[in-house]
Amino acid sequence: MADLVLKPSKARSVLRRHPWIFAGSVDRLEGRARPGDTVTILDADGRPLAKAAWSPASQIRARVWSFDPAESIDHAWFKRAVAAAVARRAGHPHLAGQEGMRLIHGEADGLPGVIADRYGPVVVLQLTSAGADKWREAIVAALVLATGCAAVYERSDSEVRGLEGLAPVAGCVHGALPEAPLTILENGVRLEVDPVAGHKTGFYLDQRDNRRLTGELAAGRAVLNCFCYTGGFSLQALAGGASSVLSIDSSAPALATAARNLALNPHLDPARAQWQEDDVFQALRTLKADGRRFDLIVLDPPKFAPSAAHADRAARAYKDINLLGFRLLNPGGILMSYSCSGGVGLELFQKIVAGAACDAGVEGRILHRLSAAPDHPIGLAAPEGEYLKGLVCQVG
Ligand code: SAH
Repeated sequence: MADLVLKPSKARSVLRRHPWIFAGSVDRLEGRARPGDTVTILDADGRPLAKAAWSPASQIRARVWSFDPAESIDHAWFKRAVAAAVARRAGHPHLAGQEGMRLIHGEADGLPGVIADRYGPVVVLQLTSAGADKWREAIVAALVLATGCAAVYERSDSEVRGLEGLAPVAGCVHGALPEAPLTILENGVRLEVDPVAGHKTGFYLDQRDNRRLTGELAAGRAVLNCFCYTGGFSLQALAGGASSVLSIDSSAPALATAARNLALNPHLDPARAQWQEDDVFQALRTLKADGRRFDLIVLDPPKFAPSAAHADRAARAYKDINLLGFRLLNPGGILMSYSCSGGVGLELFQKIVAGAACDAGVEGRILHRLSAAPDHPIGLAAPEGEYLKGLVCQVG
C-alpha cells in the first residue's frame, strides 16, 4: 500500500479530523496507487495519521476513510460504517419510520463521496469520489444488509464526478426497480419519486421538516410556491388548510408529477390548487403587474451558486426573487426563502433577504432560521458540507 506524505505543517487539518487533503498539502506519494486506492497519510516526519482514498485527478487529492491509521479499509469496514449511519437515523424520533430518508450523507457520516437515499423498498446511491466509486460493490452489499431493501439504483450522474475524473453512471446495481411508480409518505402526504429521471436521487428530502412547517403556517392563507418541483411544499400547504395554492416551476415533467401527487391524496382539495409552467423570475413580475397578493410565499430555487466563485451573480438572483416576493405579500404575510448554494452562507443570505425587504419598502422580522432535516447532518469537523439555509420572515 502506498503512503501519501504531507508537506511540513500541513498535518493540522487532518489532526482536526477534516477529511479532505488538498493538492497543496501533498509532498509526495511513496509507492504506487491507482485512483480510489487506499493510502496511508503520513505527516512530514513520517508519522501515520489516517487511511484515505487517493484521487489524483481531483484538487482534493485524498479523502479520509478513517483517522485510525491502523484501520484496514475493506468490506467489513464498509459494512460497519454503513450500518452505523443507518442505525443513527433509526434512533432519531423525526426519522425513525420515514419512508423517504437520506441514509448516508457523505463526509458528515464518515463516508466521503457516498450519498444514499431510501425511498420505501428502493435505495438510490450516488458515488461522487474516486474512493467511493472504487468500493461500489462493498457499499451496495452493506446497504442491502443494513436495510433489507429490494433494489439499489445508482444515480452517479452528478457533474461533480468529472472533478474526480469519473464518468457518469446510472442503473440498477442490486435487484430491480418495482414496476409501479415509487411513492413515499411524508408528513401525511403521499408523493411519487422517480429515481431514474427525477432531480438528484429523485426527490429533495432535505426540505422535509421545512415542508411540514409550511403546512403548519398555511391555514387560511393564499399560498404561492415558487420552484415547486413535484409539489412537496404545495401539498403540505393544502394539507395545512391553505385557501389556495399557486405553484410555479419551469419543468413540465415535474409539474405533471405534481398533479399526479395531488391525485394520490384524495383528502386534499384539488379545486384549491393551480399549477403554472413558467419562469419564476418572469412570473413574479406578471403577478405583481396583475395586482395579485399572497399571504405565504415559498421561494426554493435551484442552486444559484455552486461555489463561492458564483456568489455575486447568485446574490443578484436571490435579491431579485426575494424583492419580488416581499412586494407580493399582504400585510402579516410570510416569506419562506431558501438557498441551497454552498457558496452563499447564512450571513450573506440574510443580508440579501434584508436588502430585498428594504428595497421592497416592507418592514419584517425573522421568525425561523431553517436548515436541512437531521438525516442531512453537518460534520462538526467539515462544516463546509452545510448548504441549505432558510429564513421565514413575516412582514407588516
Ligand atoms: N421545492 C422543491 C424543490 C425545488 S428544486 C421541493 O420541495 O421538492 C428547484 C426547482 O426549480 C426545480 O424543480 C426546477 O425545475 C425549478 N427551476 C429552476 N429554474 C427555474 C426558473 N427559472 N423558473 C421556474 N422554475 C425553475
